Amino acid sequence: MPALNDILQNSLKTAHEAGQKRVLSTTELQWLTPTLRHNGRDYLHFSSNDYLGLRTHPQVMRAAMAAVDVHGAGAGASRLITGNHPAFEGLENALANHKKTESALVFGSGYLANIGTISALVGKGDLILADKLVHACMLDGAQLSGATLKRFAHNNPEHLSMLLAAQRGKYRHCLVLTESVFSMDGDVAPLAAIHDICTTHDAWLMVDDAHGIGFMQPFKADIISGTLSKALGSYGGYVAGSATLREYLINHARSFIFATGLPASCAAAAEESLRILKAEPQRAQHVLSLAQTLSYTLGLPAAESAIIPIILGENEAATKAASALRDQGIWVQAIRPPTVPVGQARLRITLTAQHTPEHVHTVCQALASCGVVA
Ligand SMILES: *Cc1c(COP(=O)(O)O)cnc(C)c1O
Repeated sequence: MPALNDILQNSLKTAHEAGQKRVLSTTELQWLTPTLRHNGRDYLHFSSNDYLGLRTHPQVMRAAMAAVDVHGAGAGASRLITGNHPAFEGLENALANHKKTESALVFGSGYLANIGTISALVGKGDLILADKLVHACMLDGAQLSGATLKRFAHNNPEHLSMLLAAQRGKYRHCLVLTESVFSMDGDVAPLAAIHDICTTHDAWLMVDDAHGIGFMQPFKADIISGTLSKALGSYGGYVAGSATLREYLINHARSFIFATGLPASCAAAAEESLRILKAEPQRAQHVLSLAQTLSYTLGLPAAESAIIPIILGENEAATKAASALRDQGIWVQAIRPPTVPVGQARLRITLTAQHTPEHVHTVCQALASCGVVA
């Protein structure tokens, strides 16, 4: 019998040969500029999800530190035991208010919010219809639930409608999963049309707003999930919806029940970020305008969010492009399967409130000089 490490080595070798092996590199994000330090060198980066630059906002950091002073570093227990510190109440009210829902429930992370919610709402005998490009954690939640999972074509309400017409009757409940802004493509789902179709066919709509918060107008959905870790610059996740949904999840979402509560510092920081996000809509407008300049300059479809993919195809094309950019002092992440479909490896460029038009100009020039764009 081969030993554990031999088996693992074999698997890693296969991934390496397919150009899909992942490695960790230590990167130190700087504070006031979109730069990071790696092995002693500074890079201009276009690969952070801190879209609004709130991660290092002085008020957000102060809110986190003040919460540590009062509540300590960790929550100390699950929220159902003694970990339900007072910082949750303000944040959940602010999230519900922002999402125009009755209530919200904070989880340990966006991943935990999605897997816990999906697996609590549906099970065997139910149907999940998921957009072809939804995030891995929605699919993990679907698997965990035991419901039948089918996929509809990306951002295609007509295909969803066809599937519902053909399949809905065979199942007890039906949950439709999509994202507001898609994480690896940056495009926006036609949520009004999808919501109407779900209502017609008696299906529940769950939208993951991880990359949309701050950029999306309010939209209708039975369940909205999201993260505190991207535009809100903190850590943690949440679900927004009816007060009944909240009460149900407290009783049934296993990733909520059996995990320690989020530290108060993360909750307090996210609440402060939410306040700034609402008071300063110009932050998101600035990011969107830079993204549109970038997509226009590169001859790509007009950007709808902070995320701009440059699809290159083969894994090697994406990793080579990323490495050529790195030689020029620019950090853009190559994204490969299974994060994106096979044959659609890409550079994923993200813009943040810390970028300027000059930074956009620099990355466009660098992309041209590496031959990534014409
Ligand atoms: C990042 C992400 C998550 C997970 O959120 P975390 O808070 O980082 O666990 C969920 N859904 C989508 C679409 C994401 O991009």
